[in-house]
Amino acid sequence: MERRTFLASAAAAATAMALDPAKADTLPLGNLPNWRYPDPRVEVLDDKKFKYMVGNAAIERIATGFRWAEGPVYFRDGGFLVWSDIPNNRMMRWLEEDGHVSVFRTPSNYTNGNTRDREGRLISCEHDARRVTRTEPDGTIDVLLDSYEGKKLNAPNDVVVASDGAIWFTDPGYGILGNYEGHKADFELPPRVYRIDGKTGRATIVADTFDKPNGLAFSPDEKKLYIIDTGLTHGGRSNMRVFDVNGDKLANDKVFAENFAPGFTDGVRTDIDGNVWCSMGWADPKEDGVRCYAPTGELIGKIHLPETCSNLCFGGKKRNRLFMTGSTSVYAVYVETQGALKP
Ligand code: MG
Repeated sequence: MERRTFLASAAAAATAMALDPAKADTLPLGNLPNWRYPDPRVEVLDDKKFKYMVGNAAIERIATGFRWAEGPVYFRDGGFLVWSDIPNNRMMRWLEEDGHVSVFRTPSNYTNGNTRDREGRLISCEHDARRVTRTEPDGTIDVLLDSYEGKKLNAPNDVVVASDGAIWFTDPGYGILGNYEGHKADFELPPRVYRIDGKTGRATIVADTFDKPNGLAFSPDEKKLYIIDTGLTHGGRSNMRVFDVNGDKLANDKVFAENFAPGFTDGVRTDIDGNVWCSMGWADPKEDGVRCYAPTGELIGKIHLPETCSNLCFGGKKRNRLFMTGSTSVYAVYVETQGALKP
């Protein structure tokens, strides 16, 4: 089949493949239905730029049975994935070796976003305790920040660590809007993005112009920082912006991608080529999944999932497997690129 014809038919099939979300919880583990290679749920929009599809790799559902899965983070040294199941106040772990799923931490203080620092330590955003923590190699949990100028953080959401050890995180406050994903409480601070210096531990405000700052990721050279705004949940913006990183400050604020409404994106990661992969959901089921944008901002590919996708990360021994937390399940697919973030 001619490549262009194949792409067109694959795109059409992808549309047809969108599953009824009402039936999502009946799906078994393993490859999604109608997965004949190449998986029609991996949609190539620009075959010159989206060269990341693996023809004989299907989208797999690797774990299910959660209320709201978020914040995936991969441990190459241990060969496992950890993520948050926020409303169940726990974090889960999936072993790459045999697919075993177990509880990693409970209670988790309704932890949401997770990442690892350059020393491999787990960094977490805790909704309920309204703080950012670091898990030391001996299991001790250190508090990195729980207040700013004497006022409690809202409910940190997502986090990324730069190669200089600085911890950049967002604080939109979803975790104190109700008791389901934390506990209901008053806001003491506006929604902001903060940076915690890796050496001094001192926090500074790096952005305060977001309705609801959410997922964030650096470009591979760390010269740019992408930050999602999920303000649409409260009548605000639904887009992703990009900033130049000037040391410990951000500059040159620009909209990077904005065609998400009436749905929105929540989590974001970059690959070694500088492409920007972000979650998608909450509106048209045919758009549920992941979007891949070229560094220029052009939408070049989509991955279709049967549920709203909240967040994603690259993992696997070669960082070439994309893990996606999708509402009640976790999905994975091999791609022909690698995550920018190490480990
Ligand atoms: Mg988030």
